[in-house]
Amino acid sequence: MTDAPDPYPRAGTTADFAANLAAVRTRIAAAAEGAGRDPGGVRLLPVSKTVPEDRLRLAIAAGMTELGENKVQEAQRKAGNLADLGVRWSVIGHLQSNKAKDVAAFAHEFQALDRLKVADGLDRRLQADGRGLDVFIQVNTSAEDTKFGLPPGDVLPFLAALRAHHALRVRGLMTLAVFSGDTERVRACFRLLRDLRDRARATDPDLVGEGHLSMGMSGDFELAIAEGATVVRVGQAIFGARPTPDALYWPGLFPESPDPHSSEMSESV
Ligand SMILES: *Cc1c(COP(=O)(O)O)cnc(C)c1O
Repeated sequence: MTDAPDPYPRAGTTADFAANLAAVRTRIAAAAEGAGRDPGGVRLLPVSKTVPEDRLRLAIAAGMTELGENKVQEAQRKAGNLADLGVRWSVIGHLQSNKAKDVAAFAHEFQALDRLKVADGLDRRLQADGRGLDVFIQVNTSAEDTKFGLPPGDVLPFLAALRAHHALRVRGLMTLAVFSGDTERVRACFRLLRDLRDRARATDPDLVGEGHLSMGMSGDFELAIAEGATVVRVGQAIFGARPTPDALYWPGLFPESPDPHSSEMSESV
C-alpha cells in the first residue's frame, strides 16, 4: 500500500486547471442528476483565495470567467492586477463596514451580507456611482460553530429591510455548513438554508430574488447539490490544497482563532 493520495489535485498549469475544472463539473453533473436536477441549474464559482496572480492567469486561460475571494483587500488587488482579463469578482467573506466602499468599487457580487450597516454603506456608495450589486444574505446555519451570518430567525426581517436598498439586488441566501465528518449535521445546515428560502418565498415571492442557494465547497458540494444548492463555491478541488489554515478565513470556527471583530486579521494577509 502507498500513502493515501492528497485529496486535492495538482494545479500548476493551464492544463491542470482545465482538468480540475472538468473533474469538478463532472461531479456537479453527477450530483445534480442523482438528485433529479438539471446540472445547468448549478453555478460553479471557483474560489481563488491565496492563489497569486501569475497562477490565476493560467487558471483563467483554462476558461474561468468569475472568481470568488474571501478577503476584500486581496480581491481588490487581484481585480486591479488582472483587469485586462475581464473576470467577474465575487466577494464571499465577511466585510467590515468601513470596507463597503471598496467592494462597491470593483465587485460584481457580494455573498456575505449579514448586517444592515454594511448594506447601508454599500447602497450609499453604489447609488453615488450609479451601479448595482448582486448580493446574497449569509446565514449562520450551524449556530454553535461560527460567528458570521445572520441567525436564521433574523433572515426574513432582514430581507424586508433590504427592500429600501435599491442598488442591492438580492439573489438568494448563502451559508457555510458545519465543518464535520457527520454528513447528517452538514445536511441539516443545507436544509435549513433551503427552508428559509422557501419560507421567504411563501411570505413574499419578491423577498429573496431568484432564491438562489449558495452552499457547498470542495468537501461538501455534492451533498449541497442534493439539498438544492444552485451555487457551489469550490476552491481547493480546482486550485489545489491551500497553504494557509482555514482558521484565517473562518474565525470563530476554531477555538484558538482570534475574535474577528476585534482584530485586523479579517482584512489582512
Ligand atoms: C474558501 C472558501 C470556499 C471554498 O473552500 P474550499 O475548501 O477551498 O473549496 C467557499 N466559501 C467560502 C466563504 C470560502 O471562504
